[in-house]
Amino acid sequence: MASLRRVPRILFLIADTGGGHRAAANAVRAAMDLIAPETRASERDEATPRESGSLPVQVHTMLPGSWGGAVRPWSAYVVEIFQECGPLAVRRASTLYGPTVTKRPYVWAGLYHATNTRPTYAALSLFTRTLLQRGLRELLEKMQPDVIVSVHSLLIQPTLDVLRQLGIRVPFITVVTDMVRFHRSWAQPEVDACSVPTPAARELMIEFGMPPEKTHVLGMPIHPKFCQPAVNGAATRQSLGLAPDRFTVLLVAGGEGMGRLGEQARAIGAAQLPVQLIAIAGRNRALRAELEAARATLGVPAAVLGFVDNMPDLMHAADVIVTKAGPGTIAESLACGLPIILTGAVPGQEVGNIDYVVQQHVGVLARTPEELVAAVRDLAASTPEELAALRAHARELSHPRASFDIGRLILSYVPPPSQPSQWNRVTSTAARTRFRRLRGRRPRGMRRWLGRRRPQAQPLPRGRRIPGIAPLQRMSLLMRRRRQRASYKK
Ligand code: UDP
Repeated sequence: MASLRRVPRILFLIADTGGGHRAAANAVRAAMDLIAPETRASERDEATPRESGSLPVQVHTMLPGSWGGAVRPWSAYVVEIFQECGPLAVRRASTLYGPTVTKRPYVWAGLYHATNTRPTYAALSLFTRTLLQRGLRELLEKMQPDVIVSVHSLLIQPTLDVLRQLGIRVPFITVVTDMVRFHRSWAQPEVDACSVPTPAARELMIEFGMPPEKTHVLGMPIHPKFCQPAVNGAATRQSLGLAPDRFTVLLVAGGEGMGRLGEQARAIGAAQLPVQLIAIAGRNRALRAELEAARATLGVPAAVLGFVDNMPDLMHAADVIVTKAGPGTIAESLACGLPIILTGAVPGQEVGNIDYVVQQHVGVLARTPEELVAAVRDLAASTPEELAALRAHARELSHPRASFDIGRLILSYVPPPSQPSQWNRVTSTAARTRFRRLRGRRPRGMRRWLGRRRPQAQPLPRGRRIPGIAPLQRMSLLMRRRRQRASYKK
């Protein structure tokens, strides 16, 4: 039974399809901690996984929160829903996102566009709800969140459905992580508030049916560590075994290491450009091995890294970034004042990001290795003044405080600790239901509570003999009985 005065809980729903959703959730959580560090719930409530690395005090003093001295602690949890709540098929399928967008982008494009119409999205939504419903309900009953924040579009509708079934009203906020264009599954008018990165995204959200008053342009969430003053880029380059003053190209391919980084590095090396490379393979071990094998013969100095957690340092050590059009990486690059060369995009949700970067004059698109070499050559030949102007323009467009603004929006929905949790009612109902189940009785009203509409089959007396009945009929009766028993256990 939940206590009346427990610490309010904020649940971030994410899915590790790419690295951006987790990075965005962690960024907002870290910003919330900085908005009111004195009220960290981890010091008062159960231990929660925290961001590694402490953040400098000046970030907090530079970016004060609206909380002032008010003591309103909370705890925040980031949960990967496909892995935590999905059945085996979902858990396996979600790991196929990386390989699919890398090796069969047309399959992903087909899925994305086919499900991005009103009727097909309704079918997709039914599908995801069916698969995730049970796990989500268990998670919500266990965690009893006071605010839910979804950083993944496919998790919004199933979670809202489960809350409706439970008859509970929890503030629900969505944080859109695509810059300009996105899937219609993001637009759920039932949510309390929705944060979008750009005015163009807000227009699309409203077009999809979202009430304008719920749609806020707060920017793309990036980690507060991107707000810190730049570290010495020359020192970082030296620590990687590179020259401190050579033009440096940072090659990134998202958290999963998608894209043709090896081919790009070889093309730049073969062109004998006066540059050096920092290549980040992310979680893609095969890509890292490929890059390391190619490094000796590249023709330009290069440092090869796997998944890194010091992206701001590496961005500050670079003169240009070469990346796919991942929204997180784009927003972080802008905050670090890096000119951007885009080499492609995950079909569907990332395509709009290319238009954004090109139209805002903070980067170019280089679809082929030849175009990439030409773009790097141009930039490397720019004067320091030209490079400084490009950097300044990128910073102007950036919104490094987005995570703080989103954090404040979320915190404005956190109920005061003195307010009794809505979950108390559900918990007691759930406890009674479990008790009845233990006693082997079908709980009254359970079907209505679970929102099911299946007709009830008549229970068969246990162990009844069925003389002279055809085997098929007997089997059908036995199966019906098994289904009934299984439904009692649910
Ligand atoms: N990232 C990181 N370490 C790495 C590679 C990537 O922390 O080694 C982070 C990167 O800073 C960004 C996120 O992973 O925050 C990638 O998000 P993005 O939206 O660019 O692409 P996705 O991986 O979601 O396709």
